[in-house]
Amino acid sequence: MATIREIKSVKMFMGKLAHGADLLEEITNICVDKDICLGRVEALGAVKKARLGYYNQQDHVYRFYDLNQTLEITNLTGNISIKDSVPVVHAHVTLSDKDGHAFGGHLAPGTIVFACEVAIHVLDGPKFERGLDQETGLPLWKMDE
Ligand code: ZN
Repeated sequence: MATIREIKSVKMFMGKLAHGADLLEEITNICVDKDICLGRVEALGAVKKARLGYYNQQDHVYRFYDLNQTLEITNLTGNISIKDSVPVVHAHVTLSDKDGHAFGGHLAPGTIVFACEVAIHVLDGPKFERGLDQETGLPLWKMDE
């Protein structure tokens, strides 16, 4: 059964990330600086290279792979919650190459910004905290309490 909570919209931040920054780390740093513990993030732009993950559902391990080419960020969608008492960004991206072919996956450190415009939607409500989920092996939201 789905577990749903009501949360409220607070405000938005919009801006651009630094050329050469690590995409995931830069968004995470903004959340830590602005004390954003719950929110949504979206972004578009381009990267110099990318590192994405794919979760193997049988083995319960991520396989990470590198895309050593310049790519467009056609979509970045993510959320911000708490893990180990600090804000954590969970984001997935779709990236396209010079021929329009797309790659996608779980955004990992090692994805380097060429240019990126980001919007962070700050939310307020019950704490969303990640902890190990035995069934999936993933750090999912603990929503049962
Ligand atoms: Zn993911």
